[in-house]
Amino acid sequence: MMASGNYRIVYCGQHSHQIAQLLQSIWLTIQEALESIDSAGPAGTPLYNTFFRGVDPTTVKAVLERIAIGASIPTSDGAHNPTIVCDNPSVPSVLSSDVHAECATVRGLMALWVKESTTVFLCPKYLLTTRLEPASQHCVGYLPSGRYSMGIMLGETQWSVLFHELVHLYLRVPSLEEEARGIFAAVDLPPSQAAVNPSSYVFFLASMLAPHLCLWFFWESED
Ligand SMILES: [Zn+2]
Repeated sequence: MMASGNYRIVYCGQHSHQIAQLLQSIWLTIQEALESIDSAGPAGTPLYNTFFRGVDPTTVKAVLERIAIGASIPTSDGAHNPTIVCDNPSVPSVLSSDVHAECATVRGLMALWVKESTTVFLCPKYLLTTRLEPASQHCVGYLPSGRYSMGIMLGETQWSVLFHELVHLYLRVPSLEEEARGIFAAVDLPPSQAAVNPSSYVFFLASMLAPHLCLWFFWESED
């Protein structure tokens, strides 16, 4: 077990260090996001309004702050620290778990929040991906169907997936039945849905990490 701030990193072996570094980077980016939200006041920044127009900034801030602090999470059997568990088959309790089976059977699954729990579970596909942090080459891609996508890959870096699951963990509400995972789909959500869509938080924060990531032509086409 390794600790990073209030986060526990469990059964991750050689990956533990990388995960701790991703958490650090997420925390730093959250600080930047919080500062920009505060300095903009009620009008919001263009970036905030792109993903969260009409959402009370205190709602978004509260989620980001709790992730950055690693606030303990109330559950039916008391409050616990947030815990990141890797799908390590050499651990018998992991090998026999439902989440291990889910990683093996759900195609493309990288990670999941175990509902009602304080645990984010990282699948082999997550641990093996070489996309670490969001970068501009992740903006445009082609889906297996051959269709053009915006931002899907951006949401599939180790950094983005970890942050996405942490949003689930701290929102603790069922997300949209069909999550909006593309950047345009996220932009189009009404406020009540954007506030509970983890990818909206991912795109907002990823755009802090690399300024205006993937948004330049969206903004240009708006005028
Ligand atoms: Zn999700």
